[in-house]
Amino acid sequence: MILVDTHAHLDYLQREGADPEAVLNRAQEVGVSWIVNPSVTPDKFPEVLQLAERFPNVYAAAAVHPTDVQDVAESDWIQAIEAMLAHPKVIAIGETGLDYYWDKTHIATQQHFFKTFLEMGRTHSLPVIVHDREAHDDVHRLISDCPGVRGVMHCFSGDAEFAQTMIDQGFYISFAGNVTFKNAHALHEAAKVTPLEWILIETDSPFLSPVPFRGKPNEPERVRLVAEKIAELKGIPIETVAEVTTENAQRLFQPC
Ligand SMILES: [Zn+2]
Ligand SMILES: [Zn+2]
Repeated sequence: MILVDTHAHLDYLQREGADPEAVLNRAQEVGVSWIVNPSVTPDKFPEVLQLAERFPNVYAAAAVHPTDVQDVAESDWIQAIEAMLAHPKVIAIGETGLDYYWDKTHIATQQHFFKTFLEMGRTHSLPVIVHDREAHDDVHRLISDCPGVRGVMHCFSGDAEFAQTMIDQGFYISFAGNVTFKNAHALHEAAKVTPLEWILIETDSPFLSPVPFRGKPNEPERVRLVAEKIAELKGIPIETVAEVTTENAQRLFQPC
């Protein structure tokens, strides 16, 4: 079985003391063939790039996370990101988006960054990894203002109807560990009705460990538990979930 973890912060795991090689070996044992490590702020770009250069099955994405935008001077990041995008292992813009849960005080700055990154994704023909926390309407509006851009709604947190709205915009729906939570009824429904051809899977490591590891640091090997839950919800074999979500990830990110 081949799986892809389309969103794992391997650099966080490394800073927290994990050995990235051991983490990747454990992931490979359950079939994880490659992962995407998104950046959150320009300070961390060198570490994210080093990991992508060191491991053939690790790819990187470059952007500024919506909760970090207030700390970053525009003149610094535009150049740093353009430089990152020239690197062959950088295969996406991410992560960017809007987060009204953690930060309601810099909404205008968040939107300004998000618009810029969507535009960059379109210009460079790269997929955009979108973080959306309690900001569905604005995320949808800004994406519809940038026709032709494509990407993924990472750690999807909407309902079935919102998933379809984003698919209509050309965005994949990526489920994370929270789809395994017992009370996540809207997410369960979204996973059931979203066509498998539009689904990706991820861990968002070290965050959001799936059941039964809830509250513990997460690792890419646990993407298998996300695949298992989607298979259970849809009533199909896990092998089918693995095969189709891997094809979807290849199609969207086109890793070399
Ligand atoms: Zn995120
Ligand atoms: Zn993330």
